[in-house]
Amino acid sequence: MRPPSVDALARDIADVGLPHPLLVDAARRAIAAGEPESARRLAGALARSLLQPVVNATGVLLHTNLGRAPVAVSCDSRYANLEFDLATGRRGSRRHHAGALLARAAGAEDALVVNNCAAAVLLVLAALAVDRAVVVSRGELVEIGGGFRVPEVMAQSGARLVEVGTTNRTRRADYAAAVAADDPALLLKVHQSNYRIVGFTESVGVRALSELGVPVVADVGSGLLDAAVPWLASGPPAWVAEEPAVRQTLDDGAALVTFSCDKLLGGPQAGVIAGRSDLVARCARHPLARALRPGGLVLGALQDTALSYLRRDGDAIPFWRMAAVPVPVLRARADAVAAGAGRRVDVVDCESVPGGGTVPGLVIPSAGVALDGDHADALRAFDPPVIARVHDDRTILDLRTVDPADDAAVAKAIASLS
Ligand SMILES: *Cc1c(COP(=O)(O)O)cnc(C)c1O
Repeated sequence: MRPPSVDALARDIADVGLPHPLLVDAARRAIAAGEPESARRLAGALARSLLQPVVNATGVLLHTNLGRAPVAVSCDSRYANLEFDLATGRRGSRRHHAGALLARAAGAEDALVVNNCAAAVLLVLAALAVDRAVVVSRGELVEIGGGFRVPEVMAQSGARLVEVGTTNRTRRADYAAAVAADDPALLLKVHQSNYRIVGFTESVGVRALSELGVPVVADVGSGLLDAAVPWLASGPPAWVAEEPAVRQTLDDGAALVTFSCDKLLGGPQAGVIAGRSDLVARCARHPLARALRPGGLVLGALQDTALSYLRRDGDAIPFWRMAAVPVPVLRARADAVAAGAGRRVDVVDCESVPGGGTVPGLVIPSAGVALDGDHADALRAFDPPVIARVHDDRTILDLRTVDPADDAAVAKAIASLS
């Protein structure tokens, strides 16, 4: 029998819903492999590899592989005053919405938004310390997920790294000696984020560093805006206690603070440089700023996040809304999911984690459902894909990270298991 033509086969699998050229690719590969009947499977696999919503039942609130903080983006095809001043009709600045509002919310003089925190650190070093020394403790020369390595970022920026202290102990005198010997442009303090050094340790806080007469840049990473967490009626949860906060770090004397927007800030992927307006302005003037700036979609979503902080409305920020749900509420939802699952499912207490390289070792009590066996693959193949975790041959679905609107889909996915 003659193999079907590529075009006929591609038209045969049109119901997969992909554009014709992609169906042609699948058909061509299937025919080349001598298995024309595999074309539909290949096209389906391609469709599933495209960016799409998933149900996060892992209990990891800031899941790096699932896009960290979930955000709502309202995007219709409209023009916006991205760089246009509606008061004067002249050119405006894209710094005057999200950045200005975040600065206001954090108590900073000014702020500049870039693509992520790695870009923020790179720009600060390039703009303020090229060919100059920057002093960092050896305990803070860390690597943070996805290859952000402090010494490598520093090398790219053109700043010269001056290491002080040891892995576990760095003292004020170590910094003071480097200030005297190397005439540094900056002292850089990097939050260790995803790991802890415990035991015989010593480090120097931002307040003490700020007394040494050199601007202190604190890369706090997670973007906890205020240690008092005024946007939650219930106040600061126990698990934020050790996380450095933007407002307090600035109060302690940091000249600049850098942080991610898609970790504890709960916004879209972006990074912020906040603090002294003269230093922020120098960062904004540097040629790299143009290459590292986000677009209107991100700035719009970030503006919404900043407005929610200014309204003290943690409920409007999906990360904080999910992080603050009381366990009894999750248990009641788990009861309903179990009842709708049409098979033996246990309601269980479990532990969520903030994730995203923040607060390592700390957990948030939670609740969900569990069933015997490893069903991760089948749940992932469901539409919408449900991402669960497996422990001791039990599949656990933590409801803290699931939008209540998706509970019915979770129950259906479980009911669909063979
Ligand atoms: C997460 C983190 C970064 C990297 O942030 P991205 O926004 O992912 O680039 C940098 N520094 C610290 C301290 C972090 O925690």
